[in-house]
Amino acid sequence: MPDPLLSNSQIVSAYREKTPGSEALAGEAGDVLPSGITHDSRYLKPYALYIDRASGPHKWDVDGNRYVDYFGGHGALLLGHGHPEVMAAVAEAAAAGTHFGANHPREVEWARQVIKMVPSAEKVRFTSSGTEATLMALRLARAYKGRAKFVRFKTHFHGWHDHMAGGYANHFDGTPTTGVIQGISNNVVLCSPQDISEVRQVLETDDDIAAVICEPTGASFGMVPMSAEFTAELRELTSKHGALLIFDEVVTGFRCSPGGAQQAYGVTPDLTTLAKILAGGLPGGAVGGRLDILEYLDFERSAELKREKVQHPGTYNANPVSAAAGIAALKIIENSDACDKANASGAWLRGRFNEILEAENVPWAAYGSFSGVHLFMNPEGASIRPSEFKAEEVDYQTLKNKRSDLVMKLRLATAVNGVDFNNSPGGQASAMHTQEDLDLTADAFREALRMLKRDGEL
Ligand code: PMP
Repeated sequence: MPDPLLSNSQIVSAYREKTPGSEALAGEAGDVLPSGITHDSRYLKPYALYIDRASGPHKWDVDGNRYVDYFGGHGALLLGHGHPEVMAAVAEAAAAGTHFGANHPREVEWARQVIKMVPSAEKVRFTSSGTEATLMALRLARAYKGRAKFVRFKTHFHGWHDHMAGGYANHFDGTPTTGVIQGISNNVVLCSPQDISEVRQVLETDDDIAAVICEPTGASFGMVPMSAEFTAELRELTSKHGALLIFDEVVTGFRCSPGGAQQAYGVTPDLTTLAKILAGGLPGGAVGGRLDILEYLDFERSAELKREKVQHPGTYNANPVSAAAGIAALKIIENSDACDKANASGAWLRGRFNEILEAENVPWAAYGSFSGVHLFMNPEGASIRPSEFKAEEVDYQTLKNKRSDLVMKLRLATAVNGVDFNNSPGGQASAMHTQEDLDLTADAFREALRMLKRDGEL
């Protein structure tokens, strides 16, 4: 059956014309990789771009086309691609050895740097990814509290391990996603991200809640916004009912501010999960938090207190090359205005996009917080003024409700015009985007809207 997205679309034709090298590689990839990809959010029809190299805020595909990049290494690249100081640290570390199967000096310096920057981190345990970090945070919380369940918010994303697999894009009723057993989801309590009374009620009535975990600026870096006040209430409620508060700062850490969302909001959780910027664009994650909780990983303290230690091996924990990149990146972020610059670029893009939407008479809106840019695609055709749009007044189902074929077409159209948006659709600004990049992005956005109009989509 012909795919309606692909037929009779000037956008798709223009994309194909510009990217034959990517199309050829996608054909080959389909033979060896499910859907030809390695991360669900890289799924794009008719095919996604194949990137050859990147520098600063730009990347180039295999056909030599340049894109202003808003994927930013899935959020890892606040300092852009190939920051010279980070790259020098990586080269030096890689030359010294990529894996010692032993302790090494860089992990100590890396941990010290994280503790210096992240208010809640009294000690740190490194993992290989954000998914592993949230898995460890949960295990620590359960061990520490001796309770089985935990609260998550519908739409909030915390990686792909079994406890986190449903409830961010679908399965909001708490049923397990395919491949996950019922016993796991029985211990996950999903609450509304927009109604604090639901969490309050759960904490008041269920004494088996070990922790509440949230993305502190809201689902997908503010796609469904969560306010500082909401997180402050979570702090109060969890303290009152003896549950731990976990901030998943895999995206927001070292991004909203050098100390993450917790520093920007002035709310200190018991545990914090980190990844992405933490490792300077290389693989890495961490759990930081209160000493008495992290002590569950400590051999001697566990023996002294006659309790079983939480186990945690991991071949690539605190890999020395990731550690080197992380130290270099975090020191730059600590000692520069990188977060402020990225936040200012995010705000500029949101404002300019809304002006363009108004000028083009498109009833969508750009919104977000800090360096994040999201597009509200108005699935119910509500009458809105883009520049006055308030996402916090819209329910999460409507904010998340986007026609995936329209998101894809918008991404293709922006790519044709030299910009790589993520699936939000939108992106994360880095500290390296210049005014010229932002202007080009605004022009590409306007042109993409016009292409969508010509395709009959708007
Ligand atoms: N938590 C959040 C808030 C994330 O955005 C992500 C990744 N996008 C993760 C956890 C999982 O991190 P990773 O992809 O490193 O496993």
